[in-house]
Amino acid sequence: MPMAKGSFSIAGGGLSGLSAAITLARAGRKVSVYEKGAACGARRQGDIEGLETWIFNDDPLSYMAAAGLPTQFAHLPQHSFNYVAPDGGLHTAEEGRPFFYLVRRGAEETSIDQAFYRQAVELGVRFHFREAKKPGEVDLFAGGPKAANAYAHGITFRTTAPDGVYLLLGREAAPSGYAYGIVWNGQGTLAAAFRRSSDGADWTLERLVERFSKVLGGPLSEKAEFAAYGHYAPKPTLFSGQTLLAGEAAGWQDALFGFGMNFAIRSGVIAARSLLDQDNYAALCKVELTGRLAASWVNRSIYERLSDRAMAKLAHKLIERGAVWSTLHAAAQPSFIKGLMARLAA
Ligand SMILES: Cc1cc2nc3c(=O)[nH]c(=O)nc-3n(C[C@H](O)[C@H](O)[C@H](O)COP(=O)(O)OP(=O)(O)OC[C@H]3O[C@@H](n4cnc5c(N)ncnc54)[C@H](O)[C@@H]3O)c2cc1C
Repeated sequence: MPMAKGSFSIAGGGLSGLSAAITLARAGRKVSVYEKGAACGARRQGDIEGLETWIFNDDPLSYMAAAGLPTQFAHLPQHSFNYVAPDGGLHTAEEGRPFFYLVRRGAEETSIDQAFYRQAVELGVRFHFREAKKPGEVDLFAGGPKAANAYAHGITFRTTAPDGVYLLLGREAAPSGYAYGIVWNGQGTLAAAFRRSSDGADWTLERLVERFSKVLGGPLSEKAEFAAYGHYAPKPTLFSGQTLLAGEAAGWQDALFGFGMNFAIRSGVIAARSLLDQDNYAALCKVELTGRLAASWVNRSIYERLSDRAMAKLAHKLIERGAVWSTLHAAAQPSFIKGLMARLAA
């Protein structure tokens, strides 16, 4: 049963649960976080991820600072990325504002997960590791993907190549999805993201690694394979009985490219504010999140219908015009039509 007013319980010590815990603790509430893993971030494999800057109207680090969340974790702004075309050609997109901030995921000290955990501890949040809770047993359930309908398969590795982000499009890289490579301080992540597990039937990780090694111009060492899944939905599920859901447990994740950190953090903060002020959670989510989720769902449907040729043509045009960020930003914004289309798909 949910705890008495004045104290709150949360299941899940990922970014959504921790953002909620910090927000509640800052408001003077007692908070208990139940995390089924041995540490915050332990679900992740030490991979490098990108905190994108285009879906919302404010920079993610400014948002986090204003919301009282930590920003003192290792991060690297990326003003450029390399697009690897289906024919293997390399094209660099470079613009004035960062496309994303690279961050480390996992249980190691410099990860974003551990920075959030440390701040929560400083604010007095009590952690119960290796303890799983069901939605009905807590005030907020933030247990991550409730089902698997998106898959990532890749490696972490070491390299002598310089820092950089690579986007690999086309059926060879990832059928009906995309692949990405990130190099930061000699460490790297390479992964393909699929929409359905069956999409990867004739795809092999070995071929992707070989292709990417050619792009980097050298072999990848200390390779460690990982596989993960996520959950997308055109419409969020905000409640399980009386319990609020946040992060991927609610279906918050950009369906176009699988960016979920921003959604997780913001949904955690919004959920905490609705618990504090007894506000209508759905109404608060609608302002910032729901329309963007719908837009991403529609964008993904359009993306999956593009041929490799059309995708390459579009990417070249946007890179040449220096219009990648502005196009992504415009496409991510809510609109009546996109909302309607997503509602029909739900
Ligand atoms: C391989 C991969 C690459 C990605 N790359 C990016 C990227 O580059 N940029 C980006 O923005 N997003 C990316 N994402 C998505 C992003 O990481 C997630 O959307 C986001 O971290 C979700 O946060 P969350 O708090 O909702 O869930 P999670 O991070 O999954 O946290 C949920 C936590 O709850 C715990 N838990 C689960 N069930 C229970 C229970 N019953 N009781 C108690 N605890 C429980 C889990 O152990 C876990 O620690 C990626 C995801 C994957 C898998």
